[in-house]
Amino acid sequence: MNAEIIAIGSELLTPYRSDTNSLFLTEQLNRMGVEVVSKTVVGDDRERLTAAIALAWKRSDLVLTIGGLGPTEDDVTRECAAQALGRPLHSDSQLAQAIEARFRSRGVRMAAINLRQALRIEGAAVLPNSRGTAPGQWIESDGKILILLPGPPRELEPMFESCLPRLREKTPPSAICRRVLRITGLTESAVEEMVAPIYSRYSNPATTILAAPGEIQLHLRGFGNDSSEAQAHVDELFPKLEAAVGEYVFSTDGASLEETVGRGLVARQATLAVAESCTGGLLAQRITSVSGSSAYFAGGVVCYSNRWKTEWLGVSQEMLEARGAVSREVAQALAEGVGRRAGSTFGIGITGIAGPTGATPEKPAGLVYVALAGPQGTEVQEKRYLGEREVVRWQATQTALDLVRRALQQRGR
Ligand code: AMP
Ligand code: MG
Repeated sequence: MNAEIIAIGSELLTPYRSDTNSLFLTEQLNRMGVEVVSKTVVGDDRERLTAAIALAWKRSDLVLTIGGLGPTEDDVTRECAAQALGRPLHSDSQLAQAIEARFRSRGVRMAAINLRQALRIEGAAVLPNSRGTAPGQWIESDGKILILLPGPPRELEPMFESCLPRLREKTPPSAICRRVLRITGLTESAVEEMVAPIYSRYSNPATTILAAPGEIQLHLRGFGNDSSEAQAHVDELFPKLEAAVGEYVFSTDGASLEETVGRGLVARQATLAVAESCTGGLLAQRITSVSGSSAYFAGGVVCYSNRWKTEWLGVSQEMLEARGAVSREVAQALAEGVGRRAGSTFGIGITGIAGPTGATPEKPAGLVYVALAGPQGTEVQEKRYLGEREVVRWQATQTALDLVRRALQQRGR
């Protein structure tokens, strides 16, 4: 069974509001093994909304609309759904009474427009709203289901939950299983080249490539009649992709890079200290975001000025003058200096130009040196990252963590 969601409201087409309800609905539906195949956001416009519902009704098994059930002139979902399905709208006397009673019990005079909420599509079952006046509606025909839900999340959520038992009865038994392969050190196109010949042979699981700064993710979704069948589909393809990408894979269970590094340091009983210039503490922040990191993280120095590089980490004045603060030599000296001072197994040094200011023809924005000092000596990487300041800084921490990950893997062999 597949599902389609239509989020309704002109406010959702502005920069100030976003459609969060569909995330909730998608999560609930996926848990039942129902895949959401399309989402649409439509403003409060009769013509466009009617067309959107008619199209969804034609092509999807389950259609969920969100919003537009209020009493005002711009709440047109009932009318549009009735028109799209070619069914009349009737005033439901029970609904009208319930709405009137609700106002009476609160001692509030009811405006006549509230009776619009008593309009029911012919053949629809009413979904009571425990937290508001706008009732939902459930329409079923030709093996398809249309559910009209209210916009406010605190009204939509309990209403949809009350639909779940009935939806489960209607959906054939099915399950979705997902697994993510996380990769760093390769571009999206390089990953695609490695894995496309393999995953394109499989329609189940479905594979999607997602790119983030300094990371590529392969998302696998397997489908089956039950969770073990869905899992079996994922388990068949996943190791093949993992093997194809090889050493660039840092996580197969959803763990972040800092978690993976943390696990590796614990396993080898190794410790780490960092000296950061252009990342300004971001690396230490990421490392310490992992609970239990005190077991392996000695600490970090944000050595932004030359004076701090010299006084705290022993980088010589001559080197700073001869090579510049952003240089291979200084990165190495920072890594070795902080490792020595902390007495840690590994030391990391990062120095670079995060940009957009501070660049020179020889040293462009995005030029970063990342050094790792450890038992096997010191390794320095020169990187030229593209992107905004924050993206450059993030990628530098990604490179640093990956250097540690790789060093730990070598030690493990
Ligand atoms: P409505 O039912 O269209 O009158 O919507 C009432 C309120 O619900 C709106 O002002 C929004 O704050 C909220 N809302 C509507 N649709 C959504 C949505 N898809 N996601 C999150 N909030 C929504
Ligand atoms: Mg609205």
